[in-house]
Amino acid sequence: MQNYDVVILGGGISGVACAYISSKLQLKTLLIEKENYLGGDITGSLVVPVMKSSEEDLNCEFYNDLVATASKLHAQITYGDNNVGWFNPVILKSVLEKMLKDNLCDIIFEAQACNYDYDKKIVSSIEISNGILSQSIGSKYYVDATGNASFSKLLKCEFWNDGESQPDSLRFIMSGINLEEFSKFLKSIDSDENVTTTYRIDNNIHLSTAYTWDKNKKWALEPYFKRALEDGVLAKEDLAYFQLFTIAAMPNSIAFNCPRLRNYDKNSLIDYSNAVIEGREAINRLSEFCKIYLPGFKNAFISSIASKVGKRETARVRCRYDYKINDILEQKDFQNSVLHSNYPIDVHSNKKNESILHKVCSYKLPIEALISKDYDNLYVIGKILGADFKSQAALRVQASCMSMGEAAAKHIANQCKIL
Ligand SMILES: Cc1cc2nc3c(=O)[nH]c(=O)nc-3n(C[C@H](O)[C@H](O)[C@H](O)COP(=O)(O)OP(=O)(O)OC[C@H]3O[C@@H](n4cnc5c(N)ncnc54)[C@H](O)[C@@H]3O)c2cc1C
Repeated sequence: MQNYDVVILGGGISGVACAYISSKLQLKTLLIEKENYLGGDITGSLVVPVMKSSEEDLNCEFYNDLVATASKLHAQITYGDNNVGWFNPVILKSVLEKMLKDNLCDIIFEAQACNYDYDKKIVSSIEISNGILSQSIGSKYYVDATGNASFSKLLKCEFWNDGESQPDSLRFIMSGINLEEFSKFLKSIDSDENVTTTYRIDNNIHLSTAYTWDKNKKWALEPYFKRALEDGVLAKEDLAYFQLFTIAAMPNSIAFNCPRLRNYDKNSLIDYSNAVIEGREAINRLSEFCKIYLPGFKNAFISSIASKVGKRETARVRCRYDYKINDILEQKDFQNSVLHSNYPIDVHSNKKNESILHKVCSYKLPIEALISKDYDNLYVIGKILGADFKSQAALRVQASCMSMGEAAAKHIANQCKIL
């Protein structure tokens, strides 16, 4: 049996941050990822850019090193609002691999834990398999960074059961866009810089804009969506949410943070699959919409559809501390803070006018919200942390997920020193 100090299940941004810091701190580290690439949502679900978080955030060593490495490999730009988190989701896969390999971290792709052994509240070993080969692995510590808590489910951990969820999205990229023309058009129709921004960065046009059917703002793109609905190019549900961003090192291309998948029956695999199929149909309609109604899109085409459905919220594991929305609203102080963030409570809803983007002051998260209640050597990081539904809606953003991974690695390193 191979033995490690730390085994991390899941190579999304929280798992990679954890593996990077853990191996940098000289812990023998293994990362196991069920796909054949790292990044999770940020690469597989095309979730770019990283949303800007507080400038006073903690545990940012991984994020800073990521920006530096990605910049060297032409996979990063700094946007006009000084957000350094504009990455290229394709090149980022190899950036993340390089960062882990440079630290001598072991990586296993296309495998998952399928069995485990434990004694009282300690997980002693796991069996992993890729469907053909299986292998036993022992470790002092385990980290569930699976984004769906599948490792904690295998271990029969307790879960939050507060009955709420957010819609999934199937993101896509269009290329062949004339960004000069599109940027000129956006500037001519929208002066609201909270919605639409365009910059010239390193001699390339970069921009972002959005539209929703919610009535909380006057949306400059609304007449175009209304007309496309009347013309039968778009369906009613396509007006729910539309957001786009240009991409680092991908000229003439735009990543779309839509369409949202319709609500589906969480207990039906067929209904879920039908919702994904309908998502791809919606992408075809949105592409037609852009080509017909938005200047600059005449020769554009769909160049990529995310290989993974983007799931904002899946399952949350019960941890030593039950982090709740009042901890954010009351700005509760904690001794072992993992992060400082001011990212809003961001709840997407498929119902008109029911999405929430509630601005908040800076808040903290204690390490105890990342340590399982059921096992003493199990950490739970990223979007499956030990938090209620509303606070997860603020904490799920990528900068916070990176801080969680880093903080877990540092906490484990301290525990290893004590042992
Ligand atoms: C549609 C959408 C839009 C978003 N928009 C933004 C945004 O604009 N900016 C922002 O900062 N954040 C955004 N977020 C939030 C953010 O992207 C995610 O919350 C964050 O990236 C989650 O990271 P993670 O590491 O927790 O999980 P994930 O990225 O889901 O990674 C989990 C990894 O574990 C792997 N895995 C799963 N099961 C197993 C298993 N059993 N064994 C081994 N590996 C396994 C998966 O393949 C995956 O690679 C968005 C999220 C979504 C879904």
